[in-house]
Amino acid sequence: MAQETQNHTLSVSGWAAYDSSGEIKPYTFKRRENGVNDVTIEVLYCGICHTDLHYAKNEWGITMYPVVPGHEITGVVIKVGCNAGKFKIGDRVGVGCLAASCLKCEFCADSQENYCDQMQFTYNGIFWDGSITYGGYSNVIVADYRYVVRIPENLPMDSVAPLLCAGITVFSPLKDNGMLGSPGKKMGVVGLGGLGHVAVKFGKAFGHHVTVLSTSPSKETEAKGRLGADDFIVSTNSQQMQAGKRSLDFILDTVSAQHSLGPILELLKVDGTLVTVGAPDQPLELPPFPLIFGKRSVKGSMTGGMRDTQEMMDLCGKHNITCDVEVIAPDTINEAMDRLAKNDVRYRFVIDIAGRISNI
Ligand code: NAP
Ligand code: ZN
Repeated sequence: MAQETQNHTLSVSGWAAYDSSGEIKPYTFKRRENGVNDVTIEVLYCGICHTDLHYAKNEWGITMYPVVPGHEITGVVIKVGCNAGKFKIGDRVGVGCLAASCLKCEFCADSQENYCDQMQFTYNGIFWDGSITYGGYSNVIVADYRYVVRIPENLPMDSVAPLLCAGITVFSPLKDNGMLGSPGKKMGVVGLGGLGHVAVKFGKAFGHHVTVLSTSPSKETEAKGRLGADDFIVSTNSQQMQAGKRSLDFILDTVSAQHSLGPILELLKVDGTLVTVGAPDQPLELPPFPLIFGKRSVKGSMTGGMRDTQEMMDLCGKHNITCDVEVIAPDTINEAMDRLAKNDVRYRFVIDIAGRISNI
């Protein structure tokens, strides 16, 4: 365990879930000392991804407690290893889902480290030294510089934090499926949450016609107003779903709960593609007929590689894209998680980590 691993002598204050109740409580633990390939980062902000909730409550059955969640991390570099000279003390940086990968395989060579079969996550992973990784709900993180990106100077550190997971997770499939640099497509986004709202912003920035499919009629005004969506379909309204048949080229499904892909696939044109990034704990329903009759494809996508993450960040800097966030103090993480579970957030909670620490 990390607390007992050699060189893990850096004492860190954080917040962890201790069991499947998911309740988050203070947790003091040890991280490794800054190594030659590492930068040590004072964490300023950390987003609360729905994945954090899945892990805190052990919904996927793979949580190693105590788990310190958090993979939407922004902060400032406070220490630099001798091989990590591309960063310097004071740099504004971000850490997302990835902590390590083999750096040798075909995927690593192509900066698709996210598909390396030895890839380890920022939390609930097992690092090379055998320690369990702990995430960004903590005041300091030590990260291998190859999994750290720069934050553009013009973007605020709080509303940028969710780009480190939500942002790259929706950017990567858009890029992979020809939605970057080819404006004018009809794009659908299913689920207007943390991931979904960034997908809408990206879709508009890339010049597409964007339709939101949502279970929440109350989100329509904001979706079309502030977020710039062109259309809004309430996915439980069969008339609206019927009217949207065969209208979309591409759909990104970000839903966190079990649902059927059947009615959603009907909205794709012939040969259209649906990419699912949502990760419910139960299998999605995938009836064959909407696939067969429309020659449609269903694919998955997991976060994104480091080159794409920096590219996305820089694009957001250029287009001034940030996330719509509700910034909270660490002592209200449990309330925020309860609200996230109830789909009551517009559209991402971000924890003000440094604010709390500096008050201690
Ligand atoms: P979120 O903020 O909770 O958003 C999920 C949205 O799904 C909700 O806002 C809601 O949108 C919709 N939804 C919720 N319950 C639903 C239900 N029962 N039926 C239909 N729609 C429902 O979550 P998030 O942080 O965006 O994450 C979404 C999912 O992606 C999670 O499962 C997460 O673990 C996963 N994820 C995957 C990756 C990856 O690499 N593939 C990365 C990050 C996250 P409406 O109100 O609009 O219906
Ligand atoms: Zn995430």
